[in-house]
Amino acid sequence: MRCLNCKKTVNAENFKKFQPFCSARCKSLDLADWLSETNKISEPLDMNSED
Ligand SMILES: [Zn+2]
Repeated sequence: MRCLNCKKTVNAENFKKFQPFCSARCKSLDLADWLSETNKISEPLDMNSED
């Protein structure tokens, strides 16, 4: 299974905790990203970050 945010492989234990993310950090980042996307759809997002 892979994190929806960073696309890294997630171990089962973390996936259960944070699904569908690898960590609380990714979970909160994704939520923030979703909120910003909702609020300003016309803004281009930088999705190229490796980490
Ligand atoms: Zn992640």
